[in-house]
Amino acid sequence: MNHHELLFQRCFCRLGMRSFGRNEKNAAMKHKSPEWCYLYVHIINLIEACLMLTWKDVIRFAKEGNPTPDRTITRSEEEWKSLLTAEQYYITRQKGTERAFSSEMCSLFEPGIYACVCCDTLLFDASEKFESGTGWPSFTQPIRDNAIAYHGDFSYGMQRIETVCNVCQAHLGHVFPDGPAPSRLRYCMNAISLKKVEKTAAV
Ligand SMILES: [Zn+2]
Repeated sequence: MNHHELLFQRCFCRLGMRSFGRNEKNAAMKHKSPEWCYLYVHIINLIEACLMLTWKDVIRFAKEGNPTPDRTITRSEEEWKSLLTAEQYYITRQKGTERAFSSEMCSLFEPGIYACVCCDTLLFDASEKFESGTGWPSFTQPIRDNAIAYHGDFSYGMQRIETVCNVCQAHLGHVFPDGPAPSRLRYCMNAISLKKVEKTAAV
């Protein structure tokens, strides 16, 4: 199998991943050979844009029901208390919010994957993380459509969309329609709800 065939194979294996194509695009650009490499990157960009979740999808999930998760985890409050720190329990199981700019995770942009602190479900790829200036770690896409569930949140006199881990229902934060192009989504997360795992997305 030559270099280009390998790239295509990896690309199609990752269909459905929100980080689809980024590594392959970099690899293709580094290769700097035939013109079709650039065509290939263009095609990936188009497919990627089609696969991205948008605000319309988020509203649909919140109103009509969330995507089915790969698995579900249910524990009693006592079990969660024994597994989590007091701070993690407050944020994830009691819908708390950490202080803005309280975590170094905001300025962390190293490659890797962010997982749910309660159940280790992979939630975000670092390549979708951006500096929002809000003081909370911000992402523009989840790693998979079904990683996160969405619920209308009308607390504190506001209308917001709450995001939770779709596997264990841990409160993560909220999502807003003012993120960067092309999806325009801003997943505003509590750093305490997340943990960085070094592995990269499975190919
Ligand atoms: Zn979880």
